[in-house]
Amino acid sequence: MALLLMKFGGTSVGSADAISRVAAITRDQQVRWGQVAIVVSAMSGVTDLLIRGAQAALHERGGYRPAALQIREKHEVAIRELLGDEAEAAAVRSIIEPLISEFELLCHSVGVLGELSPRALDAISGLGERMSAPLVAATIQSQGMAAEAIDASDIVVTTAEFGNAVPIYPETRERIRERLLPLLHHGVVPVVTGFVGATETGALTTLGRGGSDYSGAIVGAALDADEVAIYTDVDGVMTTDPRQVREARILPSLSYAEMSELAYFGAKVLHPRTIRPVVEREIAIRIRNTFNADHEGTLIVRESTSGGRPVKAVTSIKSMSLITVEGRGMIGVPGVAARTFGAVASVGANVLMISQASSEQSICFVQTSTAPTVVQALEDGLGSAIARRDIDRIIAREDVVIVTAVGAGMRETPGVAAMVFRVLSEQGINVVAIAQGSSECAISIVVSARDCDAAVRAIHALTI
Ligand code: ASP
Ligand code: MG
Repeated sequence: MALLLMKFGGTSVGSADAISRVAAITRDQQVRWGQVAIVVSAMSGVTDLLIRGAQAALHERGGYRPAALQIREKHEVAIRELLGDEAEAAAVRSIIEPLISEFELLCHSVGVLGELSPRALDAISGLGERMSAPLVAATIQSQGMAAEAIDASDIVVTTAEFGNAVPIYPETRERIRERLLPLLHHGVVPVVTGFVGATETGALTTLGRGGSDYSGAIVGAALDADEVAIYTDVDGVMTTDPRQVREARILPSLSYAEMSELAYFGAKVLHPRTIRPVVEREIAIRIRNTFNADHEGTLIVRESTSGGRPVKAVTSIKSMSLITVEGRGMIGVPGVAARTFGAVASVGANVLMISQASSEQSICFVQTSTAPTVVQALEDGLGSAIARRDIDRIIAREDVVIVTAVGAGMRETPGVAAMVFRVLSEQGINVVAIAQGSSECAISIVVSARDCDAAVRAIHALTI
């Protein structure tokens, strides 16, 4: 028997209609795979309401009440539509109501204490998943299947980094297996809360915003699932942003490396950190659409085929600045790069791309912070080298973008870079800087912001 782990995001459980689709998908997939386990997000918007409510409690007595009302209403509407049977509805209400009371109580304490600690915020922001999981489980049951809601704080053991906790192994794996395998064995569908966990001593934690993907990966890996399906509201990963290029298409498959390059260079896909547990076990991931369940989605595996197209996808990141550190005295002087990036890091700027000319006379990099801040930090950090005239100039250029062509086929195919530059030059686009990722499945090009869309379109044509 095969096992499928399905993770449903906020919009996938965001309404009665969505949740009934989840139940239908669960039935179909159980027939197909034999065993299915589920991880769910909070209903869409609920986590935001919880957090905003907690923050409002800090500033105003009872400031959390509108949020409590909205959360109750959202779940109540779904319960009424999904659970015709009064006893079933009452059973779910008897779980959700106390959680809303807990929210009010915690917010009240926040107001009294005048303090919202990261630990308190985790106890509050994780309540949405504790409400959605019982509702989803009850809906699946009402369709005649066996299901059970599971609170991940019982099985996902994490560090105490509130707001950004990380699972601790092997405890987490053991607990997940111990709790879920017997259920699966008996044909019961476990519906696990995403996003949340708890420390060894039972303090509630969360895995960071959007963390239910991470939960899906953690549970899928622990169960040695045959596939982890991430259900969302789009058909899969696209060749590029459809707002920039109308011809953008869904990619049938990607490799783990291609997917991390896409994430790194600005595509809104799964975060590499999130999927590490499944990548390490080489479990296939599929991104697919709850609202278009027949679509096969995008399959992400260790080795993906290129379909004869070395460039598979294109991304762009806007509002970057390019900094160049130039000087003849840099030749053969060790440590200049280290000092340069030390200075950049000291102001918290994030460097996305670096290139050094082999003549060693300049280093240039693209970073996310404002140019003057970084230039100042460099002038301070490299002061002695500047005084000695080892470094002649530090030049900043704002309003550049990084356009990245991604495709593992680049590794084996000679001439891909040439192809990329040819299509850019055909469009009259000036290339400011170039770098090839160390994974060799991405080429990044810096162009002026005004050339961004044209560059993306030109490179995208190579994917067709
Ligand atoms: N509900 C959490 C959030 O909105 C986790 C998730 O949806 O992935 O951040
Ligand atoms: Mg969400």
